[in-house]
Amino acid sequence: MKSTLRFLMALLLSVLIVQCAQQQMQRQVLESHTVVLDIGHYYAPGRGGQGARTPDATQGGALEECEFWYKYAGEVKDVIEQAGYRCVVINRGDTPTDPVLAAAAKRTGVIQVKTPQPTAVYLSRHHPKRMAVGILSADYALDWKPAAVIFLHLNSDSDTWRLSNKGAFYCNKVGVPMATAMAEHMNRTIFNRSMPNGGFPCGVVIRTDGHKGGGDWLNTCNDSWVPAIITEIAFVSNPEHARFLNVPTNARRFARAIGEGVVRYLSNR
Ligand SMILES: [Zn+2]
Repeated sequence: MKSTLRFLMALLLSVLIVQCAQQQMQRQVLESHTVVLDIGHYYAPGRGGQGARTPDATQGGALEECEFWYKYAGEVKDVIEQAGYRCVVINRGDTPTDPVLAAAAKRTGVIQVKTPQPTAVYLSRHHPKRMAVGILSADYALDWKPAAVIFLHLNSDSDTWRLSNKGAFYCNKVGVPMATAMAEHMNRTIFNRSMPNGGFPCGVVIRTDGHKGGGDWLNTCNDSWVPAIITEIAFVSNPEHARFLNVPTNARRFARAIGEGVVRYLSNR
């Protein structure tokens, strides 16, 4: 009888210790004033950005997501810093060899996360049950003890032009309020206003499947209670989106609207 009681007491104690550690992690995230932006994919010398590309250059020019975010991540950072938060911008590859992109990287202060092979699958240092290509970026982001992590991407669902308009902020479970705030802001300022989207709003999708693109980046952040989002809201395969984003003033407004959505969430936490 006595040993059963001792066992139950030990069990209760271990549950309380785990709960306490979780609450401490959650508090640390809520009190953090740091946002990490990860420029998606990487730049290969001679081949350019290795993310999704427009099928051709007929809609105002060629557009590729990694190169796009090298040019415009600084706008997102600017908005976040102007609101009083620290913003760190990272990419898992080396600095682009293209001089325009290299200059943009320098201006933005992009930190090149030293991934030995940007195309290889790695286990997360923070949560070793999580593994993915590009997870070293998620690990590095978590090293900053951030309030939020944004994986900067553009979407694509076709190698030919197609009017795709079901884009979304893919988020982890703890990222739903942030994704919702960001989508609402996009709908108020960009979607179906300056950027045509067939009347469809910007979506929010919870992604917990680690086998789907970026699933385990989101999961590893969720394991640390950090809201995380992949910005798959605009399609490089949609000619209307490509025409819109190929105009630099539009691209800047689009990037700044992502930053404004993050700030809206952070200031209402
Ligand atoms: Zn991408």
